[in-house]
Amino acid sequence: GPSTAEVVSLRRQYMNPGIFAYYKKPLMLVEGNGQYVYDEEGKQYLDTFAGIVTISVGHCHPKVVAAGQKQLETIMHTTTIYYNPEVALLAKELISKMPEGSGLNRVYFTNSGSEANDLAVLMSRMYTGAYDMISLRNGYHGMSEGMRGLTALKNWKFAVPQAFGVHHALNPNRYRGPFGYDDPDSAHKYANDVKDLIDHATPGKIACYIAECIQGVGGTVVLPDGYLKEVYKHVRDAGGLCIADEVQTGFGRTGTHYWGFEGHGVIPDIVVVAKGMGNGTPIAAVITREDVAMTMKTGLHFNTYGGNPVSCAIARAVLKIIDEENIQQNAYERGEQYMEGLLKLQKKYDFIGDVRGKGLMIGLEMVKDRVTKEPAVEETLQVMERCRDMGLLIGRGGLLGNVFRIKPPMCISEADVVFALDVMDRAFGEL
Ligand code: PMP
Repeated sequence: GPSTAEVVSLRRQYMNPGIFAYYKKPLMLVEGNGQYVYDEEGKQYLDTFAGIVTISVGHCHPKVVAAGQKQLETIMHTTTIYYNPEVALLAKELISKMPEGSGLNRVYFTNSGSEANDLAVLMSRMYTGAYDMISLRNGYHGMSEGMRGLTALKNWKFAVPQAFGVHHALNPNRYRGPFGYDDPDSAHKYANDVKDLIDHATPGKIACYIAECIQGVGGTVVLPDGYLKEVYKHVRDAGGLCIADEVQTGFGRTGTHYWGFEGHGVIPDIVVVAKGMGNGTPIAAVITREDVAMTMKTGLHFNTYGGNPVSCAIARAVLKIIDEENIQQNAYERGEQYMEGLLKLQKKYDFIGDVRGKGLMIGLEMVKDRVTKEPAVEETLQVMERCRDMGLLIGRGGLLGNVFRIKPPMCISEADVVFALDVMDRAFGEL
């Protein structure tokens, strides 16, 4: 095939310049195996960003590959106007993963998280007859025409005006927000901000509230315990539906629960899943109660590829692997190991301002000064490049671009975590 240089040139010549790439020196990946990926020279990298939190059970997992291959050879496309066993069976298996008694029992498949969120908010507007929606500042829900309004990253300059009817509540960021880790009442205060918005910025009746329980792109901001419970009450008092965006936090990644919201003791009205579900293959879903699902009977909605048989066969294999290979437990154990190691590094290096997360969804925030918390963006980029040289891929994000995002495939081993911590230590040491 073409070399990295040739591919870079092809991309420059033929692809939209808005598509950006990580790393100054272009990195082309030609092969993947479990938690590892390989460039054209055969150099191995430990992928601790898992694509973008998409590779849940490992690159090219043999059972995932076999399921996809088999389906490609059987029938690769039907659309929803015909019945297909893989699609219906996946719906049943996905529902079986919802908490007992949640009533979450209907699935609508789409291709991406953005589409699924679009559909979720559409259902909430149809169900409630209300228009206003609340999301969190610093939240990420997609880049579709609908989701650009809900996604709220201060430093992302959108080309279009924000959508009407969208209100952004305070980001419950206890590292940088007005109510910090040392405030025992922070969850309550952040929840009150949602109530304030409902009271002052809406007609008092809202369609929905949507949030990630750990903000992903926004830099692994963990919602405080007790926050969602209070917010859900305010939202329901205003007639709104509660939407859990589990695109990054689902399928065991938080370690303690299959779904992130379970760790907060709440039951959403709508759950949105994507990314890890297809292990990198495009598939997403909106999961609702039956009464919410019924709204879709009154108007036409259609999605040509949503829930295509190949992606569904692959997702079925993924769900099975998560159970068979104890993936959630591994996410918990490796998460603890990572956290312990990163906290040690924080003691060693002043520029590590905050380490936070749950399971294998970890953030490390780089600052120039622990008191002023001035973001160390250049330093973050430098460490990222050095890690890459040493065979470690790592994600980056956050409001200010100074947060490392560590979300590896959940099959990562103990030795891998030791390697990752060692490489990070060396890269930090060079700063
Ligand atoms: N929600 C969350 C929490 C996400 O992280 C993302 C993608 N980064 C999306 C929604 C949008 O998903 P997609 O890119 O598949 O449209």
